Parts: sequence; structure tokens; C-alpha cells
Amino acid sequence: MLDILIKSAQYPDYEKGEMLNGDIGIKDGKILKIGKVTESAKQVISAEGKVVSPGFIDIHMHEEDFINEGERYVISEMMLKMGVTTCLGGNCGLQHQSVRSFKKTISRLGGAPVNYMLLAGYNSMRTQAGMGRYEETPEILVSEISKKIKKEIEDGAFGVSFGLEYDPGITFDEVIKVLNELTYDDIFVSMHYREDSAGSSDAIREMIEIAKVSKKKFQISHLSSCSAMGQMKDALKEINDAIVENPKLDYDTYPYNAFSTSIGSAVFNEGCFERWNKSYEDILLTDEPYKNCFCDKELFVKARSEHPQMLAVAFVMNEEEISEAISNPYGMIASDGIINNGNGHPRAAGTFPRVLGRYVRETKCISMINALRKMTFEPAKRLGLNQKGQIQEGFDADLTIFDPKIIMDGATFEDITVAPIGINFVLLNGSIALKDGKLINDRLGQFISSELKKNYT
Ligand SMILES: [Zn+2]
Repeated sequence: MLDILIKSAQYPDYEKGEMLNGDIGIKDGKILKIGKVTESAKQVISAEGKVVSPGFIDIHMHEEDFINEGERYVISEMMLKMGVTTCLGGNCGLQHQSVRSFKKTISRLGGAPVNYMLLAGYNSMRTQAGMGRYEETPEILVSEISKKIKKEIEDGAFGVSFGLEYDPGITFDEVIKVLNELTYDDIFVSMHYREDSAGSSDAIREMIEIAKVSKKKFQISHLSSCSAMGQMKDALKEINDAIVENPKLDYDTYPYNAFSTSIGSAVFNEGCFERWNKSYEDILLTDEPYKNCFCDKELFVKARSEHPQMLAVAFVMNEEEISEAISNPYGMIASDGIINNGNGHPRAAGTFPRVLGRYVRETKCISMINALRKMTFEPAKRLGLNQKGQIQEGFDADLTIFDPKIIMDGATFEDITVAPIGINFVLLNGSIALKDGKLINDRLGQFISSELKKNYT
């Protein structure tokens, strides 16, 4: 007897490149049968008129901050509510705690709302080593930090992330030295560029060069926030040409015309408004005492000096260029979800439903199957998750069932807690984790370590 039978599913077949119809039988956490399934099941779900997708894989988000938030899942609960079943934290060079302690915390809490993977964050380690934002790191210290990253990888991290914009002192040579020390074949490297808007061309060329020299799987992070200020066409041309030469290169992008980072960040240094052709009024603060306040010059300066960790949202990107980054033949969808003190950018709660509602259904800038491919198949392949990201017999039963006629994000810049609509079920490892927006079981997710990944190959 099957555990769950999903009847009349419309699901993506990436090999054929089309949406197919059939039943999906699940047993012991795996997809056992697809097609006309006549076996009985403990539970039957009708998917008439719905799409059954592999659970979304968010290749770029930021991990739970258990140190500041207490031991409460915030981001990964939002992930589950928007159909994500596996996510990769520790991006942009930022890491709150060591992989080992994060892994331990998840197991002590009896699982997580979604499957979690983590990168080692280079900037965090560099800061811990005593380096200032604008200082160049001495060679001996680069070796020491690299050893720490190796240790994190041995503890289960999938690779390393860098945030060049956050610590402008990190040089091209420094990055190459670190990557040369990491002699593992298959690790994943993600990078938040050195500069956005007017600096985007140089920043993208630098990343393309690092990818080429390091020969590692290399991901340009959240392209929209780098180049959607008038540079997207050029950026995509550079990247697409480079991917033909170096298939280990790719990028991710999120579907919003505003980015978010802490107000104290170097991103907001002198000259940023001239670069973006925007002003103080385009910056929204997200926490008390200035929650939902747009800045003027005085507030901007005050918030930066008195509350540098407060997340701010910068409405500085062009919608048309957001679409171009989403519909390009290469690239993946990722949330870049980050929450601080319960506040932040709605992308943490709405990214995937927003792409399916706004860009697939409404503007039609991308087809359903291509959007799903960028949310499931591509990130799974990239991360070596060989049993996830596709609906195939023998694959993990991580599934998201949604209504393509109504799916849409709910979270806004004023209130990120509004859940998306149109997500009917999320199955994690073959069990129901979410039904009609309600959490049924919020501890089905596990920490996937790079070691565990070996079991997948
Ligand atoms: Zn970033």
C-alpha cells in the first residue's frame, strides 16, 4: 500500500520539456510510481487543476540567526509556506554560526521546517580574524581563514560565499588564494559582487574571471540587485557569453524591484544615490523606532550611525530589467531571504509564488516549465542533489502542489508576514508538511551536509 497517492497531477518533465499528466504514488519518502497508478494508498490527494512541482530549492538565502532570534525558526517557516523544501544559507559571505553548531542546533530541535544546507561565509570569518572592511588581508591570515573554511567543509558545508561589496578590502588575489587552498573538486562558490549599477560591468567581469581562474562551480548572487539599474542587458550578454565558455558559471535572481541590506552597510556609502539616480526618499527602514519610515537625509544619517544593523529596503531597481533576469535562458530563481529581528524584505516570504503568479501567469515573460526548472531542476543539479529537483520514480518525495490560476505572493514591504496564496500542499520527505497554508508538521527537514550528499550519488 502506498503512503500517499496524488491523483491527476500536472507535473513538469524536464527531459521532454513539457508539462505531463498522471498520478504520483509515494512510499517511504520516495516517489514510487508515476502514470496510471491503481494501487490503494493511506491518503489520496486530488490534484485536479493543480500543478505538482518538485519542492522548490532556494539556492540563495540566509540562515536562521539562532544567536539573536533565540531558537525560533523564522525564515525557514516562511520558506515552507512558499513551497520551498530545501534551501542553502550562508550566502553573501555572511554566516551567523559555525556549520557544526548550526547542524547540532537543528538536530537538537528535532528537525527544521525545510531541509537546510549551508555555505561557509568568508566575510564573517575575515571579520572574526580582526580584519577591517577596507584593509587588505595579509597572506598568512588568508591561509588561516582558508583552513577554517576547510574545516567547515569537512563539517558539512557545501562551499564558500563571498560578499565583495560588504568588505571592499577583499581583493581579486585574496579570493583566488582562498579558492586555490580549497582543493575539493565539487564545491560551490557564491559571490555578492563588488559594486552595483554603474560599477556592475566591472563587477561582473571580475566574477567571470574569478570563476574561470578558480575552475569551481561559481554563482553570481542576486543579479537583479547588481544590474537592474540600467545595466541588465549588458550584464546578461556578458554572463551568457561567459557561460558558453565556462558552464560552471551561473547566477540567481529575485523578483522584486528593491533590495535589502543593513543600513550601516558600505552599500550605502557616499555616492550611492548618484550611482542609482535615486534619493534618500527611496530608502525604507524596517524596524523600530523607524519601522516603515522612508528616509530623508537626517533620518538616513541617524539610522546609519545609531542602528547600523537595522535592515533597510532600497527601491532602486527597474521592473523591466527584473523580468529580463528572470526570463533569460540561464539563471535560477532564489529569494536572498534575510530576516533580522523578525523584519526584512518580502522576498523571504514571497519569491517563488511571485514568479509563478506575476511573471508566469500575468506578464507571461517566462513559461511555467522554465520557471519551475529554474526553481527545482537547475539548483538541484548545481548542488549535486541527485535525488531532488525532478518528478521521477525513485526521487525524494519533496513536492509542492499549487493552483496556477491563483498562486501569488502575499508579503509586502510593510508586512512580510502575509503568507502567499494558492499553495495547497507541501510534502517533505514523503509526508505532508503544509496544507492550505497551515503548518502540519514543521520539523520534517534535516540538515543536508556535503558528507550526506555522497549518499545521493
Ligand atoms: Zn548579497
